[in-house]
Amino acid sequence: MPIARFDYSGRHALVTGGTSGIGLGIARGFADAGATVTAVGFGADAAEPHPGIAFAEADVTDQAQLDAIVAACPRIDAVVTCAGIIRRGDEHDPDVFAEVVDVNLTGTMRTLVACKPRLVESGGAAVGIASILTWAAGPLVPGYSASKGGVKQLVQSLATAWAPEGVRVNAIAPGWTATPLTDPLRADPERTRMIMDRVPMKRWAEPADFAGAALFLCSDAAAFITGATLAVDGGYLAD
Ligand code: NAD
Repeated sequence: MPIARFDYSGRHALVTGGTSGIGLGIARGFADAGATVTAVGFGADAAEPHPGIAFAEADVTDQAQLDAIVAACPRIDAVVTCAGIIRRGDEHDPDVFAEVVDVNLTGTMRTLVACKPRLVESGGAAVGIASILTWAAGPLVPGYSASKGGVKQLVQSLATAWAPEGVRVNAIAPGWTATPLTDPLRADPERTRMIMDRVPMKRWAEPADFAGAALFLCSDAAAFITGATLAVDGGYLAD
């Protein structure tokens, strides 16, 4: 079966965490579907160029920086919040816990609040990035897991609050994905074996695996879907 095609010509997408990994994969997906894209994150100068994508440096813990990015967008039809960090082993320290939550969860809230008026104008939609650790425990990463559980609840709450204004808010929950965030795991053959034993489809996701779900959730094909968190995980949560 061919992959479904979406036409985002004349539309603009804002992707946080768009300089690397899953965010970059999603930004490329929107650009390849005809959108112009603002991809925000760290290392914007070093990000691999792609037609249709303008990279911008901004920190999602800084509301003023986000507001400036949003103001510079010509319009916003889709926003995807991929900016995220993990601090394996250190997140039992409440300060590190708070830092992770500030980027992953409060950063999502800051971004969505900044974008909301533009989404009301365009009739656009938002997608947050949760995780399989939205549901599964993360003994080494309590801050990460709590933040990702929070993303699911946040999109449900904003979806409900913003539905009367025509703004849909959903989330994607990625499974284990080959990005810099999982470099230490993929460098460890024993961890890789344990993870792959648990993934029914027996491979790491690639960043491009999430573009279809993001384009779908922001499109009219998903016109009656809001408040949902869609697992894209090779069957991990089903097992
Ligand atoms: P990555 O490290 O490749 O990308 C993270 C992105 O977030 C980068 O663009 C980085 O610059 C940006 N970022 C980090 N802190 C930021 C900040 N304060 N302000 C602005 N941008 C910031 O990692 P990834 O795996 O692509 O992760 C993307 C999202 O996907 C994260 O939310 C992560 O939790 C989630 N996720 C990843 C996996 C996985 O297995 N890789 C699984 C589930 C969910």
